[in-house]
Amino acid sequence: MITINDNEVSQICEMCGNESHIKLTDEELWAFKDYLMGGLLIQECLPTLNKCEREFLKSGYCAECQELLFNNGYTRRLY
Ligand SMILES: [Zn+2]
Repeated sequence: MITINDNEVSQICEMCGNESHIKLTDEELWAFKDYLMGGLLIQECLPTLNKCEREFLKSGYCAECQELLFNNGYTRRLY
């Protein structure tokens, strides 16, 4: 379940149950809303974000679980 509060997107990780957050710029938030409406790939909507940040927006997996699952590396933008 995605929560958007101002420019902060929050999701609970399905694997560990921890909630993570990312702050998006206005442009990124618009692009993310485009993605949520469907029809576009997340890498097309948000090319400036790294793999880990995009995966979080897509699936809600936190950085730690993504590291275990996909070896996506860490990002300072997820907290
Ligand atoms: Zn997790």
